[in-house]
Amino acid sequence: MPRPLLATVHTAALANNLAVARRHAPRSKVWAVVKANAYGHGLARAFPGLRATDGFGLLDLEEAVKLRELGWAGPILLLEGFFRPTDIDVIDRYSLTTTVHCDEQLRMLEMARLSKPLNIQLKMNTGMNRLGYTPEKFRAAWERARACPGVGQIVLMTHFSDADSERGISEQMAAFARGAEGIAGARSLANSAATLWHPQSHFDWVRPGIILYGGSPSGVSGAIEGLGLQPAMTLASELIAVQTLAAGQRVGYGSTFAAAGPMRIGVVACGYADGYPRCAPEGTPIFVDGVRTRVVGRVSMDMITVDLTPCPTANVGSRVELWGAQLSIDDVARACGTIGYELMCAVAQRVPVRAE
Ligand SMILES: *Cc1c(COP(=O)(O)O)cnc(C)c1O
Repeated sequence: MPRPLLATVHTAALANNLAVARRHAPRSKVWAVVKANAYGHGLARAFPGLRATDGFGLLDLEEAVKLRELGWAGPILLLEGFFRPTDIDVIDRYSLTTTVHCDEQLRMLEMARLSKPLNIQLKMNTGMNRLGYTPEKFRAAWERARACPGVGQIVLMTHFSDADSERGISEQMAAFARGAEGIAGARSLANSAATLWHPQSHFDWVRPGIILYGGSPSGVSGAIEGLGLQPAMTLASELIAVQTLAAGQRVGYGSTFAAAGPMRIGVVACGYADGYPRCAPEGTPIFVDGVRTRVVGRVSMDMITVDLTPCPTANVGSRVELWGAQLSIDDVARACGTIGYELMCAVAQRVPVRAE
């Protein structure tokens, strides 16, 4: 018997979430972002749920090739572009669309031998200061790209730093308008947060990622309540032991938790080597037998310990949900001082995954 730990990917939830994204941006085409192995869900497992998209966005050439092998003949966008001249051969062979964010990439394109012109997304840096041409340098870059025989269609793109927060997107929208002024062509600006909350940024292509997996762009589960998004992953396990503690007895490494009175502790087959965050503090929510309770004691490599006080009938074999259909991954992440994105992507290789 394998350990009773399983991640389930909900294909219908992915399809539902893509439809929710489309409802928010009805006039735009969608790049479904599946970087990082579809945010930890597995590219091949996520693909059937997302195949109603217009295109897929990702970073890794190998993942792009895998999508082609899965039978996807539509657009694939490389969100960081390429890194070496030899990458361009793969881009050409598999008809990928690539981001171009710097002169080094333009130079490689100018030198490349291609079987046909490549479609590119020319990236503007509107304030994030990671990738892209500043608004002042954008027009020259666009003219250089347009003059390059290896370049086909050029979509203008940028990426937002604060579409999920108070600061908002107005400064970046203004910078984009300045840099793109007088340049014809399709535009792509919106991530998940902007797809949900900033319709003025939708233009021709939106690029939702996290909402396709049912996560909140702001990391706060309440922010997406009522939108109809569904969790695309459930991570579940079982109790593999139960301990009965007397007042003052302690639990786990470092003896960080001490029982105030008699209580039962459940031991769950899931630990940080499975991707459950070791930093999860006492009180991190978890469901046992469908009842919300809390993590107590330190997360160890293969196990966590939970308070069974709210679930007195729980015993060895009881179902435990780490996150998913009953418990928002954002609520777990928040207790750990991070966002759902990180927990999804961190589910370890050793965790068996099933798609349904
Ligand atoms: C990851 C990424 C996205 C998707 O971001 P979400 O916040 O998950 O929607 C969109 N565009 C680019 C360029 C990205 O790298």
